[in-house]
Amino acid sequence: MFEYAPAPESRDIVDIRPSYGLFINGEWVEPQGEERHKTVNPATEEVLAEVAWAGEADVDRAVGAAAKAFPLWSGMPGAERAKYLFRIARIIQERSRELAVLETLDNGKPIRESRDVDLPLVAAHFFYYAGWADKLSYAGFGPDPRPLGVAGQVIPWNFPLLMLAWKIAPALACGNTVVLKPAETTPLTALAFAEICRQADLPPGVVNIVTGAGETGAALVAHPGVDKVAFTGSTEVGRHIARSLAGTRKKLTLELGGKAANIVFEDAPIDQAVEGVVNGIFFNQGHVCCAGSRLLVQESVAADLLEALKRRLGTLRLGDPLDKNTDIGAINSAEQLAKIRELSEAGEAEGAERWSPACPIPDRGYWFPPTLFTGVAQSHRIAREEIFGPVLSVLTFRTPAEAVEKANNTPYGLSAGVWTEKGSLMLWMASRLRAGVVWSNTFNRFDPASPFGGFKESGYGREGGRHGLEAYLAV
Ligand code: NAD
Repeated sequence: MFEYAPAPESRDIVDIRPSYGLFINGEWVEPQGEERHKTVNPATEEVLAEVAWAGEADVDRAVGAAAKAFPLWSGMPGAERAKYLFRIARIIQERSRELAVLETLDNGKPIRESRDVDLPLVAAHFFYYAGWADKLSYAGFGPDPRPLGVAGQVIPWNFPLLMLAWKIAPALACGNTVVLKPAETTPLTALAFAEICRQADLPPGVVNIVTGAGETGAALVAHPGVDKVAFTGSTEVGRHIARSLAGTRKKLTLELGGKAANIVFEDAPIDQAVEGVVNGIFFNQGHVCCAGSRLLVQESVAADLLEALKRRLGTLRLGDPLDKNTDIGAINSAEQLAKIRELSEAGEAEGAERWSPACPIPDRGYWFPPTLFTGVAQSHRIAREEIFGPVLSVLTFRTPAEAVEKANNTPYGLSAGVWTEKGSLMLWMASRLRAGVVWSNTFNRFDPASPFGGFKESGYGREGGRHGLEAYLAV
């Protein structure tokens, strides 16, 4: 039987307080209400800390602090703002091991991913946007680009610190001030980031962090003092926010769900494609908006690819997220686990064939084995709905046109991957796929200089790159 063996040396490098208040105007303050929430380690169900639940009055206080800080921050020369952002980026680098452990404890993702993917990208985003802060006048937005004011930002739990960086770095570079609400199940790295703002001597009120559930997010989005709303999360909540903001002057960007196709042609090197498919869906337990959750494989190589894929899945190690050898960590919450189970059962009930490698599951915590479904029809729920877990639906195609038709047959349009050695076929596919990102012979590759965002129900607006600045300027 598998035994859960924590790695005490890693766990010990983080300093988690038993309880946290809200970070408003550069200080820790108690919420006005009594309600608090326990955040747990999903790999062990251990309570990590209690966090405040911000109500309307707390959100009002945070927005007030951000509004008060706005004239100073927006009036500062860009080169001065850049110094703060560079300082934040360097502190993140210095504290990256500790932040990676904290992220893994609160989220359940493997330490190898938080340490080698999330944290380097978090620092890179702050470095990248620090570089823009004094160059906005030359970026083609006109000679005097203006910030919008107070940005209300709401983020999900799958990449807690990285989503924070995607939101806060461009907002601050452009001269906006921020109130950010992290997801209820993963508040700890955002609260650690509040400390980093203090360490960097960021002026009080420029960044405010309010913890809470959907009601806190709704209060933030609706607050009349908020000039810009940036939301990353589910399509359902995004749709609700878009409706609620109709007719207001608030600028809105939405980064929502996805159901990406990872398309493998018969000429693709099989081992490379298998690695790409595995990375596409099992990275971060499939808790990835752009996850390659539908494998479209050309019929002529489907049997060989599936055999190689199953062999590779048999080598994935599921378990202690703090263990550097772990490939598949814990599912972030009991609710998410229930959702993955429900959709997987629907896949079986609708006639698809389910397969997982022999994979011991720890006794405590929330876990789901890497799973693939064959015999999937386009009408099946597992081919249409976002599962947001380590579950791959396999479909086949004969011609490039059929691959395009199947890949685009989704209400989403966030990303896609194409595996072929033929450059002309790659370009032909890329120009027809209705997806914000099309990866060529790779998947889940991110860079702060590349814009990211969706078509259709995956949202609108772009984050990253020069495009990411547009969301935070009056242009
Ligand atoms: P969610 O929509 O349930 O919650 C996201 C955030 O919104 C949380 O902080 C939550 O507290 C808050 N929220 C909930 N109701 C709200 C309301 N009425 N008003 C304002 N805020 C509210 O999503 P989730 O389960 O946390 O995250 C998973 C989803 O996020 C997936 O659908 C995934 O595809 C999507 N996502 C998209 C991207 C992207 O860049 N497109 C990136 C990461 C995750």
